[in-house]
Parts: sequence; structure tokens; C-alpha cells
Amino acid sequence: MTIQKIGVIGAGQMGNGIAHVSALSGFDVVLLDVSEEALKKALATIEKNMARQVQKGKISEADKAGAEARMKPTTQYADFGDCDLVIEAATENEQVKRKIFDQLCPVLKPEAFIASNTSSISITRLGAATDRPGRFMGMHFMNPVPLMSLVELIRGIATAEDTFAQVREMVLKMGKRPVSAEDFPAFIVNRILLPMINEAVYTLYEGVGSVDSIDTALKLGANHPMGPLELADFIGLDTCLAIMQVLYEGLADSKYRPCPLLVKYVEAGWLGRKTGRGFYDYSGEKPVPTR
Ligand code: NAD
Repeated sequence: MTIQKIGVIGAGQMGNGIAHVSALSGFDVVLLDVSEEALKKALATIEKNMARQVQKGKISEADKAGAEARMKPTTQYADFGDCDLVIEAATENEQVKRKIFDQLCPVLKPEAFIASNTSSISITRLGAATDRPGRFMGMHFMNPVPLMSLVELIRGIATAEDTFAQVREMVLKMGKRPVSAEDFPAFIVNRILLPMINEAVYTLYEGVGSVDSIDTALKLGANHPMGPLELADFIGLDTCLAIMQVLYEGLADSKYRPCPLLVKYVEAGWLGRKTGRGFYDYSGEKPVPTR
């Protein structure tokens, strides 16, 4: 079997990017969300992002029209019946993902693959919650998906070699660069990146620097394209906290304890760009540091 039709679950910032790139690469795409509102927003975002690519001369109007025609939004799992691969990109919460697999598995054809875009949850454990651990693996895209070329590919203990090979082939067809990571908490990128972001929040919490000085210091002092707090807002503070908790619990090491200030921001619903406020306030024309 070759992968031709792809299902994407979760139409948030990652799901819409995965749908965007898959459709542009010629795959048929079914995009599902529990929220009609999220689906509408995702299609509008995809349209806007593709229009920008046309403007920059990266794709043609015909490429855009073709990709849009290959994309079907839905709230019904039955629409995944003829998908070859379903990529789960819903909220970073194990219970949410397990419930999704309970609904997904009965409608899938037996030979279909399932991948999770989880940033940190054990692929082995998620695979074991499905009816096909051998045909299950991690496929960790980077944000924003249309711009970032890396995809981490993670084998669970039960993942079959053919599953890995087929999914890798599909990633190459998408024009992305696959890197293989073992199934340890947060894999490679987030194992390194998130403790740095958490340390930046501690630096703010302890008053070592302001939001602006911390971000400026890392941009100019370490040549990072974005400051760590700006990046945290971009990723989503709820996602950052969830990843730190997985590292803390999964590796049982206190060096990964989430900063209390990060916890407070999430409790307040200040989740970063997606809610209009995080370490920056996004309500005006330019982001304004909040501390
Ligand atoms: P998001 O909050 O933007 O989107 C999540 C979407 O999932 C929402 O549209 C929500 O309505 C939907 N959803 C929630 N429960 C659902 C359900 N039961 N069925 C279907 N849809 C449901 O989150 P995101 O940033 O797109 O993250 C999604 C996944 O991708 C997470 O596992 C996250 O760890 C991972 N990820 C995120 C980033 C990042 O930088 N944000 C990077 C790589 C991977």
C-alpha cells in the first residue's frame, strides 16, 4: 500500500499546517475537529497562508486551488474510512488522544497507519491504546508546519519496520527532512528546547531580567531568531507546560520541574498568541511585553 489519502485530527495550529502541506504535496486530506468553529478558522488560516505563498511566488494559483479542492473538513469519523494514514494533532492531553483513538480505530481500514503529532507523550503507550500498535508511530512536525522542514519520526516498541518506512517516504514526498528519535519523553527537539524555555520563565520569575531583556539577550547573545518567551507564546503556554510535566514525570528528575509562573499563566488562560496574551500582549498592532 502507498499512502495517498491522509486524515488529520485536530484543526488547531499544527493540524491546519499538516493539512496545508499534505494537500499541497498532492495528498487527499480529510481534516476533523470537534469544533465547527476550529474547522472554519483552520480553513481561513490555510487560505491566507497559501495566498501568501502565491504572493511570494512559492506556489501558483493553480497549486493553491488544487490543494484546496483536495481538502475536506469534517466532524465525522466515518469520513476516515478510506484514509491510508491518519495523523492525530489534537490537544496535548493523553486522555483526549485516547478517546480519539477509541472513536477512530473502528472506522479505519485494517491496513491504515496512525501517527501522533504529540510533542512529548510516549508513542509506545499511545500505540498500545489503539488496535494496531505495529502500524502506529510518532510523527512530530514543527511549528509553523509550512515553513519548518524537520519532522521527527518516533518508533514505539511495537512499530513495524514497514510502518516507519512508509511514513518516512511520505514525509520525503512532503518535501520535509525526517530525523529519527527514540521513544523517550519529548524526543529530541523538545527535550532540549523546553527546559531552555522553562529556564527563561524562571529567569523572569526570579527577577533576573524583564521579558524584553531576556528575549533580547538570547536573540543577540546566542543568535536565536526568536527569544525564548516569544517562542513560548508562539508554541502555546499550555503545550509548554504539558511538555514540562511529561519530562518531569517521565524522567523523574527535579531539574524538569515546571516554573510556577508558567503554571500561573496557564491557570489564568494566558496561553500566548492563540489567546491574545501570554508573556506579550497581542491586542495592539505590536506585541507588548507584560512584565
Ligand atoms: P491547538 O490548541 O492549536 O489545537 C488543538 C485542536 O485540537 C483544537 O482545534 C481543538 O478543537 C482540537 N481538539 C481537541 N479535542 C479534540 C478531539 N477530541 N477531537 C478532535 N479535535 C480535538 O494545539 P496545537 O498547538 O495544534 O497542538 C496539537 C498537537 O500538536 C499537540 O499534541 C501538541 O503537543 C503538538 N505539537 C504542537 C507544537 C506547537 O508548537 N504548538 C509543535 C509540535 C507538535
